[in-house]
Amino acid sequence: MSSQVPDSSAAAAGDDDVVVSLYASRQKIYPRSVSGLFSKWRWALVWLTQIVFYGLPWLEWNARQGVLFDLEARRFYIFGLVLYPQDFIYLTGLLVISALALFLFTAVAGRLWCGYACPQTVYTEIYLWIEKKVEGDRSARMRLDQSALSLEKFGKKWLKHFLWVAFGLWTGLTFVGYFTPIRELGSAVLAWDLGPWQTFWIFFYGFATYGNAGFLREQVCKYMCPYARFQSAMFDKDTMIVTYDEKRGEPRGARSKKADLKTIGLGSCVDCTLCVQVCPTGIDIRKGLQYECIGCGACIDVCDDVMDKMGYPRGLIKYSTQNGINNNWTRAQMIRRGLRPRVLVYAGILLAICVALGVSLFLRTPLKVDVIRDRGALARMVEQGRIENVYRLQVMNATEVAQTYQLSVSGLPGIVIASEPSVEVRPTEVRSVAVRVQVPPGTADSGSHPIHFEIQSTSDKGIRVDEKSVFLIPR
Ligand code: SF4
Ligand code: SF4
Repeated sequence: MSSQVPDSSAAAAGDDDVVVSLYASRQKIYPRSVSGLFSKWRWALVWLTQIVFYGLPWLEWNARQGVLFDLEARRFYIFGLVLYPQDFIYLTGLLVISALALFLFTAVAGRLWCGYACPQTVYTEIYLWIEKKVEGDRSARMRLDQSALSLEKFGKKWLKHFLWVAFGLWTGLTFVGYFTPIRELGSAVLAWDLGPWQTFWIFFYGFATYGNAGFLREQVCKYMCPYARFQSAMFDKDTMIVTYDEKRGEPRGARSKKADLKTIGLGSCVDCTLCVQVCPTGIDIRKGLQYECIGCGACIDVCDDVMDKMGYPRGLIKYSTQNGINNNWTRAQMIRRGLRPRVLVYAGILLAICVALGVSLFLRTPLKVDVIRDRGALARMVEQGRIENVYRLQVMNATEVAQTYQLSVSGLPGIVIASEPSVEVRPTEVRSVAVRVQVPPGTADSGSHPIHFEIQSTSDKGIRVDEKSVFLIPR
């Protein structure tokens, strides 16, 4: 894998010493707009991801926000599912699934995530679209930047930045709307009554979007994103990557549309440089695979257009594999190589974890109970010589209806609950109750004895939890 070498300047610091600067100032990239199959896919993903991101917090479920990560109440609502900090295992499972899916898709089809679904790509695409609508396509934008300041230039720049900032702030508001009810947040914005943390996060996220998608753009992918650095470890010779067919394209050169390739001694590349002009990271794919390539397919779309105009077959730049190019494999042969051991192992583990997570969520009991022994009164003798221990039960109702739970205890002969044997808990609430447990005199030897609490909903017998504890009998 080659990479672009930054411009370097050298200065003689002595007779033999040469100081080389590795710093290269950024050359602004003006990607030309492109249309075609992969561009359509990219825009479809932009719409899909953004409809989900901006729309999800506005959906209602059981008279509350459908998806809400309420950090203050330490509760996550995902439609019918209410998760508590104790359910952290599900979040871990989701992260493992995301990482494995990334490994799998990268092994099969390279940087699919980067080219089509990564927020940096998606927001850069949206910000570029706004820029194009206000300032025009590539050449118009270049002319505008090079021109002297005029009223027209000032007006266009002002409008572009206004739209960028507005879009960024809307994005920030939506992001915060996942953590605080978005309708209340919207009313607070209109009444100019936001809290300090809400204000901070809306502006922070909004300006991060504005800065990353409006200014930093490809620099985030080139210099900040760690994924670009370690992706090569997931590639092999059968990974689909965007490639230039050098055997077919070279020697490159301009020619008339009517020229016969055989007689002029040129390959299919007409050296129009359109593939470089549309590239969002500004690289020339004809130099081979480079780590800056995010696999967006824009160069494929534009080169296919050029091939159509010249009357040459499409596919001078295409998704292909290294083995496919070296051995002149057909698409079907390359797809068959997709099912290689590495891919099957990733897919197998991914499927197993998805099934395990799904089953565990399906079987999850929407009730959690913590039993804590009362440290203040370990064990005491009460009326008729009975021995009493006191416990504190923390009962979490993870359903969205009020529940009454029946408490019972077992593990020692004659053991009973001497306090109120039922507890009512409001929807999604946590309630802490003191429970007194007694045994008759002479039930067991002195010491610690294992016991079980059983907590069961009176309205749904399937909602039932067993918790272990110990009962102390003093000497
Ligand atoms: S777009 Fe195609 S024909 Fe034009 S320079 Fe790139 S590879 Fe060559
Ligand atoms: S080289 Fe082609 S696929 Fe890679 S980033 Fe540039 S335009 Fe996208």
